[in-house]
Amino acid sequence: MANLIDRLPKVEGKYIKGQRLDALTWFRVGGPADVLFSPENFDDLTTFLRGCPDDIPVRVIGVGSNLLVRDGGLEGVTIRLARGFGGIEVEGDVVEAGAAALDVTVARRAQKAGLTGLEFYRGIPGAIGGALRMNAGSYGTETKDVLIDCTAIDRTGHSRTLKVEDMGYSYRHSGVPEDFIFTSARFQARRDAPEAIQARMDAITESRESTQPIKSRTGGSTFKNPDLTLSGGLKAWQLIDAAGCRGLQIGGAQVSEQHCNFLINLGEATAADLENLGEEVRRRVKETCGVELEWEIRRTGREQGEKN
Ligand SMILES: Cc1cc2nc3c(=O)[nH]c(=O)nc-3n(C[C@H](O)[C@H](O)[C@H](O)COP(=O)(O)OP(=O)(O)OC[C@H]3O[C@@H](n4cnc5c(N)ncnc54)[C@H](O)[C@@H]3O)c2cc1C
Repeated sequence: MANLIDRLPKVEGKYIKGQRLDALTWFRVGGPADVLFSPENFDDLTTFLRGCPDDIPVRVIGVGSNLLVRDGGLEGVTIRLARGFGGIEVEGDVVEAGAAALDVTVARRAQKAGLTGLEFYRGIPGAIGGALRMNAGSYGTETKDVLIDCTAIDRTGHSRTLKVEDMGYSYRHSGVPEDFIFTSARFQARRDAPEAIQARMDAITESRESTQPIKSRTGGSTFKNPDLTLSGGLKAWQLIDAAGCRGLQIGGAQVSEQHCNFLINLGEATAADLENLGEEVRRRVKETCGVELEWEIRRTGREQGEKN
């Protein structure tokens, strides 16, 4: 690791050795990135990807609202898009946003411009890159319903435009190769009165605050809702409840009492506590209800003490 930065290309943005990732994720757990890189802009990101030796692992994170970074941290270079990727432009009924723009900021900007369709982003605490990767959605709308196209750059620094039909979207999933880094996206909206849009956004905020532990250290919904034909019509939270897991605790990790598809770091949890708790919930749900829950939260990185 000592020589890693020496092997990386000269860039305008910053390389930070051993950046703690607990500070950059919602769960507030996880070991450090060997190196964190924040590119200044698109060209800087391209320069980095073209010059970064093939044997160095590279991955991208957003604002860490769907991420469980393991206690041993992330090998190689972790890219976090920031300022140079945060712009939002409105042209006619189309909203263009950089991948680092927060979903909520995009929703607000559209509302101010009298554009409806993006209100659902009001309640999702991620950034646009994460929304593109996860097909983020809520209240009946998903990213796939509003996306026109986006720009992505691969591990070799080659960029392309992907139309929504190229994204391989299904529920909380994109089939786009894991090495693609999204840098911006265009969304189709429609005209409406700003007050009506604001009222819908306020309703979303209210509903979230009353049903989800949004002020806790959490990663949002832990598991995807299963195919309802296989689960007897029960959603993930209902299965978890039926398996008696509400409030279940391992170390400093707990299944939320308020919304039992949310795991919470009570303060001193390790990533292993949270992952073990999630696995225990999966085991109990399988035993009690016969359904295999699938993680929605992305788990990544090394176990504590694991070597590269
Ligand atoms: C309280 C709470 C409520 C939530 N509610 C919802 C909800 O209603 N609906 C919903 O869909 N989600 C919800 N989430 C989950 C989360 O906010 C979304 O999945 C969000 O889209 C993740 O974005 P992020 O920037 O935080 O990505 P991260 O968590 O940082 O990363 C998630 C994944 O996206 C990838 N990624 C991030 N940026 C890029 C990029 N630029 N290019 C390529 N890949 C990238 C990462 O590699 C990782 O695999 C909630 C989370 C919390 C904590």
